[in-house]
Amino acid sequence: MKFTDLNRHGGIGANCSLLEIGPFRIAIDSGLHPKFAGYDSLPSHDFLERNSLDFIVLTHCHLDHLGSLPILSREQPDAPVLLSYASSILARRMLSNSVSVMRRQRSELNLPELPFYGRGDLTSLYNRIKPLSIKTPLQVEKDGKVLKVTFHHAGHVAGAIAVEFETKKEKIFFTGDLLFNDQRTLDGAEIPTEKFDVLITETTRGGTPRNPTRQRESEMVSLLNEIRKTLARGGSVLIPVFALGRMQEMLVQLDEAFRRNAFPKVPVFCSGLGMDLVNHFHEISKNTNRLRFNRRVLKSLGARPLPRKLEPGCEPPMKGIFLVSSGMMVEHTPSYLLASGLLRDDRNSILFVGYCDPSTPGGKLLQSDPEEDFEFEEIDCIEPIRAKIRQFDLSGHADREELLAYAQKLSPKTIFLHHGDPDARTWFMESLSESDATVIDPKPLKTYES
Ligand SMILES: [Zn+2]
Ligand SMILES: [Zn+2]
Repeated sequence: MKFTDLNRHGGIGANCSLLEIGPFRIAIDSGLHPKFAGYDSLPSHDFLERNSLDFIVLTHCHLDHLGSLPILSREQPDAPVLLSYASSILARRMLSNSVSVMRRQRSELNLPELPFYGRGDLTSLYNRIKPLSIKTPLQVEKDGKVLKVTFHHAGHVAGAIAVEFETKKEKIFFTGDLLFNDQRTLDGAEIPTEKFDVLITETTRGGTPRNPTRQRESEMVSLLNEIRKTLARGGSVLIPVFALGRMQEMLVQLDEAFRRNAFPKVPVFCSGLGMDLVNHFHEISKNTNRLRFNRRVLKSLGARPLPRKLEPGCEPPMKGIFLVSSGMMVEHTPSYLLASGLLRDDRNSILFVGYCDPSTPGGKLLQSDPEEDFEFEEIDCIEPIRAKIRQFDLSGHADREELLAYAQKLSPKTIFLHHGDPDARTWFMESLSESDATVIDPKPLKTYES
């Protein structure tokens, strides 16, 4: 098989890969780079000739995997888009939100190329999607050759899948974003452990050693404890989260904490997209026992939308817990704006629950010296760092030791490294050097043969 990474900036970013297996040409995912806007945020679709794909696979609905799918699908109108049932529901809400965001960015950031797609493109895309059941192979035929495509549960987020490809000649496994651990609302990955010829593995956490004293359950206990202390001293809590997945998991955790009277009753504020997705999670959980979620959680928590008038550098009009996107506190998002209003008061806390790229405002705040001021460049606001800033290890990704053990279990001949920053890939490259596999860290837009 041949593999080409179309994420032209390397690292994580705008995920999109081309797999050529015998006569079959398959693209996996088509995302938007979370740190860029406009053209810079797109993968290199122009590497693919128009209408040259047999099909497209979507692994899950985070925007770095989904955000440019309507464009790829428009350029490849004959290629069906294979995805899980849950993703077929979640993609609609995520993409319609993406259209609204791009329309706003067009004037705010002066990017005339936006929006890249509109409602009409979304309708065309929805006509091309084909939900596939998990662990149920689909047979595709071309030029007398047969390819079997099988989805497996990847944990990570509702609807996330890993993909197995099988021809007469070879077996290939693409992990997608993977989490082995169970979360409160979602079961962990269930993926094959037999031999494969080729493994394409995510490497997100390759730069982070496992810390045995900071396991998922104890991290959640520490997080809830930090929330309790903040509320007890009369402060507000900001928890920057992804609207898809992490927000719903946190809603359930908070609800349970309120029910056992772990905290005093305070208002919980959520961003609109995260609250809408609650309804979609509710629908999906009716059809699977892997996702445990009931929309009653919003009512039980008394969750409410964000106050309308939020001003840079000003405390929000009410105190409470703010569960809002983005998870990395990137510019032009509610978490960025709220942080500017909460940072100067030492009763408040800003609690991160996932990975923050070091170059994002969240990453910069985590590395800041608390003696110095923090600059919110986009909104012209400089604030002293008096609030408590902490990060909890509740990642949606498997740790590097788990991924390494998994790679060794499949004993593949070739391993392609994927979805990781350079230092993360270097760790995998070194750790796999003793194995029998040829390990390839593909450069963007270069085609490698296994
Ligand atoms: Zn993801
Ligand atoms: Zn990802």
